[in-house]
This record gives sequence, structure tokens and C-alpha cells, in this order.
Amino acid sequence: MNFIQLRNNNLCIENISALKLTKKYQTPFYCYSLAQLKNNFLNFNSIFKNIKPIICFAVKSNSNLTLLRELRKIGSGADVVSIGELLKAIKAGINSKKIVFSGVGKTEEEIKKAIKKRILLINIESESEAILINKLSKNLSKKTSVGIRLNPNINGKTHKKISTGTKGEKFGLLYSDCINLCKKIEKMKNLKLEGLSVHIGSQIKNIKPFKDMLSRLDKVIKRTKINFKFIDLGGGMGISYLNKEKKLNLKKYSQLVQKFVKNKNVKIIFEPGRIIIADTGVLISKILYIKKSGSKKFIILDAGMNDLMRPSLYNVKHQIIPIKKSNKRFNGNIEFVGPICESSDKFLNQRGFSEIKEGDYVSLTHVGAYGMSLSSNYNVRPKVAEVMVTGSSHKLIRKRQSLENLVKD
Ligand SMILES: *Cc1c(COP(=O)(O)O)cnc(C)c1O
Repeated sequence: MNFIQLRNNNLCIENISALKLTKKYQTPFYCYSLAQLKNNFLNFNSIFKNIKPIICFAVKSNSNLTLLRELRKIGSGADVVSIGELLKAIKAGINSKKIVFSGVGKTEEEIKKAIKKRILLINIESESEAILINKLSKNLSKKTSVGIRLNPNINGKTHKKISTGTKGEKFGLLYSDCINLCKKIEKMKNLKLEGLSVHIGSQIKNIKPFKDMLSRLDKVIKRTKINFKFIDLGGGMGISYLNKEKKLNLKKYSQLVQKFVKNKNVKIIFEPGRIIIADTGVLISKILYIKKSGSKKFIILDAGMNDLMRPSLYNVKHQIIPIKKSNKRFNGNIEFVGPICESSDKFLNQRGFSEIKEGDYVSLTHVGAYGMSLSSNYNVRPKVAEVMVTGSSHKLIRKRQSLENLVKD
């Protein structure tokens, strides 16, 4: 279902036109559909209903507190990768027994907090980390539930900057190191080895890497003979950003996981980010200038790479649509760019667009994941506002950063 779409040539987020929102909020701003978010989460849940997984939303994809609260209300847990994300998940009311902590570089401060909060699993990524968690747990007189992250050496065939499961990557432990560390952890008195985890990358659209991943996990389970209580399969499910682009066949994935859990007494954990939240958000931006350059027209937006980094960081395309579509069309070459002083500050090249003029507004679509959360203050630009729409009402869920705050140090 699509809760963000053009209706009579007007972009609507649920029942509110984007144009109406531009009268109320200063552009650029992110806008989310709550119905879309709920729809995505519940849909994910229902596709995997036979295995009743614990769904730990990947907070790094979007850490807005209001959105986290909404996810918690419909049953979500959290996958966190820093103390900041951990504190936000807790503040959103997410039960600590539904929080997993991933990442190769957890600090002492972060580990101590996770131990004290008695979260579901701290996913260990190295022997040194295991030793440290054991020591800190001992100091705090706790026995800490941990998981171990396998690097299954699988190429997710995704963008190289978001691939995490191949031999050369820093994440997880290679097969034999993983087996050896399992044995060592089992001897550590203040650790309880309960989980085996894996996350092979992001935006994976083929089923094959997931299939291979499950068979590698099986190998580890057979070899170690450990009855892991939890198998954490990570996230990474690929979506379609552009029309007709291939996406992961989630039903097939669900069938594979059902087969995997058969005759095992394990609980599955997922850490989805993108698939839950990407298509819930748009970035609304104003056209500052239109500049002709040779045979091309630059459409200069008030949103830049600091507000939405994905195009310049990963070379990916986000569809851009006018929030009020004209019946007339411009047929030449156009390039949407931002105001930042970097040549990589560009969003999209395309041929033809609905006729637009300076002062009109456009929307960058599917930016709910890794949009706001990757934004920065580069060029001393304030972080933009976030707005949530539900039905016919809208509310500010994060204030635009004030200039005073921005210039104070
Ligand atoms: C980033 C990340 C995720 C979420 O990935 P998506 O592609 O957004 O689903 C899950 N788990 C870990 C460990 C991650 O680093």
C-alpha cells in the first residue's frame, strides 16, 4: 500500500497535500507517513508470522524518537550501534529485553551501559571485546547475555560501501575464528553465550546471499553443538527505490527461514531498517534557482548533500517529483543539485520533467531510511525539521536546529 502519492497532480502524504505543509514548515524538511510506517512493520511481521521473530528495528536507519515510540507501540524492539541509540531506544520505551547491540568498536562506557540495562544481546565482534565484556560484567557482578557475530564470507552483491559480510570486511568473525571464540566465551564466567548473529550488508535484492548465509549458520551450529537460544539474522532486505526496480522476495526469504528453524529450538531475531522505514519519508525542498548551462538546466534546491547524503555517498538515485505536477512538460536535460560547495552535491540527472519554476517545490522520495540519520551540519547548515502525518493531521516531531545553537561554538 502507498500512503504517499500524487492525487489529482498534488503530492499527498496520507490526506494532507505537501503544498499545505510547505505553508507551515520551512523547507527543506523531512515528512513521514505514520500509516505507511505501521503498514510496513505489520506487513513484515505477517510475512514472518509462522516463525514469530523478535523484530529489532535498526535505529541507525532513523532515530527519530516519535517514530521509535510508534514502532514500540506496535511491538518493535531495537538494534542499536552506539550508546546514543541505546539511550534513545530506552527513552522510546522499548523493553531492554528487545534490544540488541551491534558494532565492532563498542567503548567501555557503551558496554557498561548495555550490561547495566540487561539488554537482550550484546553481539560480540572480536575476542578482545569478549574479554572486556566479561571483565566489566564481573566488576558489576553480572552475567551478561551475549551473541557472537559471524562473518559468513558472502558477497551480498550490493554496493561495496554497504557490504558487510565478505572476508575483507571488518565485521564479525570468520568461520574458524568464530568457532574458536565460541569455545572461549563458553568458559568465561560472566558471559552467557545465547546468540549467533550475522548481517551481510544492506539493500540486498537477491535471495541467494541469504540462502548461503543460512547454510553457513547451520555449519556453525553443527560444528559448535551449541544450543543457541537466538539466531539473529540482521537486516539488509532490499527494496525498490525506483519504479520497477527489483526488490527482495520477502516471502521466499520467509520460507527459507522456516526451513532453517525446523527442528531447532531457537528464536529468530531480525534487525530490519530500510525495509521498514525507507518509503515512509520524503524530503520536501524548494527550488531556489534554475540555471541554464549549455544544453542543460541545473535545478538548484535548498536541500543539499548535508540533508540527504545517500546520492553523493553511495551514488544512488532517489526519485524526485514535483509536489504540484504541471500538465506541461520540459523535455531537455536537467540536473537536480544542492547548494553545497562540493561538486558531488547532486541528486539526479534526467531527461524531461514536469514544467517547474523558481519557488516551486519538489519532493525527494524514499528517504525515510539513512536520510535524516546521516545528515550533518556541513557548511554550517542547520539540521532540518521532521514532520509526521497521520490521516489528516500533521505534527512537528523534530524541530529545525536553530541558528543560534549552530553558531555558538
Ligand atoms: C545497518 C544494520 C542493519 C540494518 O540494515 P538495513 O539494510 O537497513 O535493513 C541491521 N543490522 C546491523 C548490524 C546493521 O549494521
